[in-house]
Amino acid sequence: MGNSAALVTGADKGIGKEIARQLADAGLTVYLGSRDASRGKAAAGEIGGDTRTLVIDVTDAATIAEAASQVAALDILVNNAGISAEGRPAGEAGVDEFRRVYETNVFGVVAVTNAFLPALRGSPAPRIVNISSGTGSLSWSAGSAYRSYAGNMAAYRSSKTALNAITLFYAKALGDPFKVNALAPGLRKTDLNAIAAASGGDPAEAAAGAVRLATLPGNGPTGEFISWDGTPVPW
Ligand code: NAP
Repeated sequence: MGNSAALVTGADKGIGKEIARQLADAGLTVYLGSRDASRGKAAAGEIGGDTRTLVIDVTDAATIAEAASQVAALDILVNNAGISAEGRPAGEAGVDEFRRVYETNVFGVVAVTNAFLPALRGSPAPRIVNISSGTGSLSWSAGSAYRSYAGNMAAYRSSKTALNAITLFYAKALGDPFKVNALAPGLRKTDLNAIAAASGGDPAEAAAGAVRLATLPGNGPTGEFISWDGTPVPW
């Protein structure tokens, strides 16, 4: 693998921590993004290898700018930080819930990606992985795949739909040698929300899917929405 430095946002726990762990285990320098310095340091210490804590709150421009000033060269950016908020259905979720979720899941990704683009542009094989969700697939939501969700989690799911669109546009705009893809990690046992905590699978399995996209070869896909197991997800 030619890549040598990676940043994972929201990596002090959950899927992000497993992505950081797997990248560190593969011998990369990993910038472990956390909005809390002590929790970030604890996670970095547990992971070991060349893992360095970077304080980033993806909704806070000052922390993003400060973090970007510390990283001159970057090969991989994993935009993993995300929140689900209250998960109310359309009609009950107010504009406050939409704003809060979009600040992190959508605007946070734009802000972090733009801030680290200068560092990524120096890489021979820059890779951006946006951690999306299958629940953001309009095709699956319009069909029978997510019948049980109905119109629930409207802010969260539409934020991931927006993230998918943004993924496609960055892929088109950045072009070769960038690879920019969105990952559907599957339902994972994390603190994201009650459904994930109660019935999710192993976060490490989702992380392996993210690492695959983070280390794609030059002939790999870009501008695609891909499941943790490597299969395509319909937009
Ligand atoms: P998690 O355990 O709750 O982890 C979320 C991470 O994001 C935490 O490190 C959290 O930091 C961080 N974060 C939240 N807001 C942030 C902000 N403003 N700035 C920086 N970091 C922030 O949940 P997870 O399941 O691992 O979620 C990771 C990603 O996977 C999310 O994008 C989520 O939407 C996606 N996803 C998860 C599932 C699932 O079933 N778990 C399914 C589909 C998609 P704190 O520790 O400071 O809160």
